[in-house]
Amino acid sequence: MTLRFFDTLSGTLRDFEPLRPGEVGMYTCGPTVHDFQHIGNYRTFLFEDLLRRHLRGKRYRVVQVMNLTDVDDKIIRKAAAKHMTIGEYTAVYTEAFFQDLRTLNIEPAEVYPRATDHVGDMVTLIERLMEKGHAYELDGSIYFRIASFPPYGRLAKLDPKGLKAGARVDADEYDKEDVRDFVLWKAPREGDPVWDTRIGRGRPGWSIECSAMSMKYLGESFDIHTGGVDNIFPHHENEIAQSEAATGKPFVRYWLHAEHLQMTGEKMAKSLGNFTTVRDALAEGYQPRAIRYALLTGAQYRRKLNFSPDMFGAAESALRRLDDFVARVRAVPDSRPGEPLDLVSPTQAAWEAALDDDLNLPVALGHLFDLVHEVNRLIESGSLGAPAKRQVLELLGDVDRILGVLRLEEQTLDAEVERLIAEREAARTSGNFQRADSIRADLARRGILLEDTKQGVRWKRTGP
Ligand SMILES: [Zn+2]
Repeated sequence: MTLRFFDTLSGTLRDFEPLRPGEVGMYTCGPTVHDFQHIGNYRTFLFEDLLRRHLRGKRYRVVQVMNLTDVDDKIIRKAAAKHMTIGEYTAVYTEAFFQDLRTLNIEPAEVYPRATDHVGDMVTLIERLMEKGHAYELDGSIYFRIASFPPYGRLAKLDPKGLKAGARVDADEYDKEDVRDFVLWKAPREGDPVWDTRIGRGRPGWSIECSAMSMKYLGESFDIHTGGVDNIFPHHENEIAQSEAATGKPFVRYWLHAEHLQMTGEKMAKSLGNFTTVRDALAEGYQPRAIRYALLTGAQYRRKLNFSPDMFGAAESALRRLDDFVARVRAVPDSRPGEPLDLVSPTQAAWEAALDDDLNLPVALGHLFDLVHEVNRLIESGSLGAPAKRQVLELLGDVDRILGVLRLEEQTLDAEVERLIAEREAARTSGNFQRADSIRADLARRGILLEDTKQGVRWKRTGP
């Protein structure tokens, strides 16, 4: 199967062809660093991680740009309330964001431009729009004239009759019912941070930053733009208008949007007061990889995912079963003869085909679990040989370049633990069960779980 994505602008699944063979330019709307990001945001960032990992797996050179919005209405309000500059205020949440990305094993983007470092680029873009008659000044603010750009509303599928040409909106975020000329540059207000520029004193509106920074790093036309579905309007609609009106060129070839993580049927958002952060989940004792696995695999990215309090616990159980599987495959002796496994290569192909089909990870995992089931059966009957073992471990390595959660490395015990296991065996043999049990408990405290099987003692790590 060829790689294809659902493109929001055309409303169809389209085969993926980048502008330049072998390369992908990809812009992802990053966080507004006014608070800790909630796990709904990380569902979107994990979808983007899946996208870049799959593209890289297909040998594309990916250049991903993710902006950091470090000036907007909310940041200004919150920084003022704490008597801080916006720079001081956002530094804390910017650092927290990068920490969370590492926690969730999200591959870093190539560029993380900050809005406040690119005000000059935004000013240049606004000047181009004014020269072409797409923007006008009023009382020190500058607005985009939506009547000058007939395609306005195509991405969000707006009814052209609903556009209120000539009326204006100054807020960064507003509803579809309130489509008006939107603000590119805001006149100075008491207490706001301001920049002195060729277009006057003031500060940028929100959406202009993503047009200016995406085109600066990826060119006036580029391959993929992603975000959450709530970015479609007005943010991405405005980005298209600003960019295409200025350049006269198509802005983006594929628009990909991730659905919400829902809590009790509503989208998870701070404005609804129901947010949970990665930090909240870690404080509850959940493993980082379980949070990643739950948010990444719970549903295909275009489907809503329902948050439930035990979704991370369920993910931990699933990962423990996969750990057990890896350990069982590893335990097959390298000297055991046997045939290669016919099932491996079709599983590999089915895995890739499911991801090629608009990143359908749940279907891909279904194929993987079919293989796990079959290999477990072969291990139990003692008929998995070394050639099949190597194949399966290699497949798991490929799979984990996407999943990023498996423990494939050889799990070795340090000498101390090995000595204790041997001592426990000796104690059991000599009937000193009290000593044996106390060693077992001691190891459990160190995160080593022992299992007595017919084949002898098996161990596994239970800690993170
Ligand atoms: Zn954006």
